[in-house]
Amino acid sequence: MSKFWSPFVKDLVPYVPGEQPKLARLVKLNTNENPYGPSPKVLEAIRAELDDSLRLYPDPNGERLKQAIADYYGVQAGQVFLGNGSDEVLAHVFHGLFQHGRPLLFPDISYSFYPVYCGLYGIPFETVALDAQFRINVADYDRPNGGIIFPNPNAPTGCLLPLAAIRRLLEANTESVVVVDEAYVDFGGESAISLVDQYPNLLVTQTLSKSRSLAGLRVGLAVGNAELIEALERIKNSFNSYPLDRLALVGAVAAFEDQDYFEQTCQAVIASREQLVSELQDLGFEVLPSAANFIFARHPRHDAAQLAAALREQGVIVRHFKQERINQFLRITIGTAEQNMALQEALTGLVQ
Ligand code: PMP
Repeated sequence: MSKFWSPFVKDLVPYVPGEQPKLARLVKLNTNENPYGPSPKVLEAIRAELDDSLRLYPDPNGERLKQAIADYYGVQAGQVFLGNGSDEVLAHVFHGLFQHGRPLLFPDISYSFYPVYCGLYGIPFETVALDAQFRINVADYDRPNGGIIFPNPNAPTGCLLPLAAIRRLLEANTESVVVVDEAYVDFGGESAISLVDQYPNLLVTQTLSKSRSLAGLRVGLAVGNAELIEALERIKNSFNSYPLDRLALVGAVAAFEDQDYFEQTCQAVIASREQLVSELQDLGFEVLPSAANFIFARHPRHDAAQLAAALREQGVIVRHFKQERINQFLRITIGTAEQNMALQEALTGLVQ
């Protein structure tokens, strides 16, 4: 360990992202990317931006993109915040919106970046256990807190919390910020963005990495009350005034403008998910109800770590978590029909 490291850095426990393998021929179902490419209009917009203008800084406020998002969700541009992927948006949220005197609350099984950001920014936290069906029970959050955050649908379970339950949570916690991380909401969820004008303590984050198939472009956003957004802008401008480059800005605008492509590809993912769920159930898997572009499944007679390793040997990679209570599950991203078939064939050989 370097003598130049501060004790603070020595104590950090960073997030470990899913593997990005070098071999292209693998069936890659481990990091919840979209199996369909981005809209052709996005690629066109990015190509058109590839000129001498790259010598200029991008718009630090991303006004055009904010307006496109505001129009899409029926809010004001001043209610939209942009970042380099929703991970960066979340980093700013953790940095500035949660109170330090009381614990931040999030589910015991959820996005494993949350405790990492708590470590980075010195935020105390308590995890709240999911119920026996792996669902969030909002009554369990009725306790003193400095903020609440959860993914909806939850990750890695895929389970959805209905908007009525989110309203109840917001009403019971008017003194703290409630963040709904909607990375996967477009695959069957209902966005809480419709509630932001009613609840000044609500912030909703989203990403273009999943439903708009732009994980490589790194665009994330938050929508909320203008005061919360202003706080995030201050933090961003104290950190990096240009989180989104020129290509990301134009590509993201084009993505919001191509609604047909977005709807078609989301529907295709949802249809594939339903088919895969029934195929896996036929193989004896228990599959949690998913409103996301992945499923969370376990087999009563087969060890999940061994299944993941055996699938890998056959060229199919899925995600396995060592965390207690979920270490018998596999998280499987929904792929193309061809990829799903490769997965199903490999699993058939392994579990039957
Ligand atoms: N939230 C959740 C729940 C996620 O699973 C992910 C993807 N790993 C993110 C946020 C971050 O996505 P991105 O930074 O690509 O926008």
